[in-house]
Amino acid sequence: MENITNMEEMADRAWFQVAPGVWGIRDLFVNMYLVRNERTRSWVLVDAGLRTSALKIKAAARQLFAPHFVPSAIVLTHGHFDHVGALPSLLREWEVPVYAHYLEAPYLTGRSAYPPPDPCAGGGLMTMMSWTFPKDPIDLNGHLLLLPEDKTIPGLDGWRYIETPGHTPGHISLFREEDKLLLAGDAFVTTRAEALSSTITQAKHVSGPPKYFTPDWISAETSVKKLAELQPEAVATGHGRPLYGAGMQHRLQWLAEHFKTLAKPRCGRYVEEAAVAGVNGVEYVPAARIPKWLVLAGVLTLVATGALLYNRRKS
Ligand SMILES: [Zn+2]
Ligand SMILES: [Zn+2]
Repeated sequence: MENITNMEEMADRAWFQVAPGVWGIRDLFVNMYLVRNERTRSWVLVDAGLRTSALKIKAAARQLFAPHFVPSAIVLTHGHFDHVGALPSLLREWEVPVYAHYLEAPYLTGRSAYPPPDPCAGGGLMTMMSWTFPKDPIDLNGHLLLLPEDKTIPGLDGWRYIETPGHTPGHISLFREEDKLLLAGDAFVTTRAEALSSTITQAKHVSGPPKYFTPDWISAETSVKKLAELQPEAVATGHGRPLYGAGMQHRLQWLAEHFKTLAKPRCGRYVEEAAVAGVNGVEYVPAARIPKWLVLAGVLTLVATGALLYNRRKS
């Protein structure tokens, strides 16, 4: 028991303040956010990180919100494994609803898996590792509720959600009008999510959504433009540090204007054609595009192996 308490105290240091009433927790390479509702004195968890994040979330909640350390709701920007990981553990203790966009529901109720990641897109170690990331859908049946159509967020007065598909079909971002604070999930990120080094050092960038996990680049561009038009004063994203003020606005605007050259990968299976998804999940996935050099290398290896075997038989 004492050990657990010590671990929780250590985990406490992981949280950081983003803005009044908003805190972030970083676990390895991903962020989640705790948002207080000033009127009701309750709070909402935005995204649920990795499996290992449950302890950090509970420790931060206890310190920031005790005695009301159980949130009124959990809101998901999307359902990728690094944004829902702690849910099974948290929901065993917390009887709270989990809200998501209706187009994200198939991936949160075991109905559909996301389109496969694209290890050809983006370069970087995280990209190459992407095929190892869990992609089976989590099943939140019994806990999942759909976000209201009027764009309000249950439990968060003064906030609204913005539909930002592309990275996933039902991806949302959260915006607080009063101080123009934007929680953008993975619609864009403030690091280079593809590179393991950037992910660890949290170097400051404003980049498009993680390339290996984005199956619709046309929607992703429209979503970034929509968010840039809000002219947020502060942004906090799924990966990277919060960024503020004119410097960030300039970088976000630049990304929106030059999205095709800055964010879209040069090659990969979703570059020419997007995956198609509907209310029941993925409907169509374009064929994998194998780079020419890889095909050539494969053919050469086959020829060399064949020649070697042939020579061995002869001798
Ligand atoms: Zn994601
Ligand atoms: Zn992510």
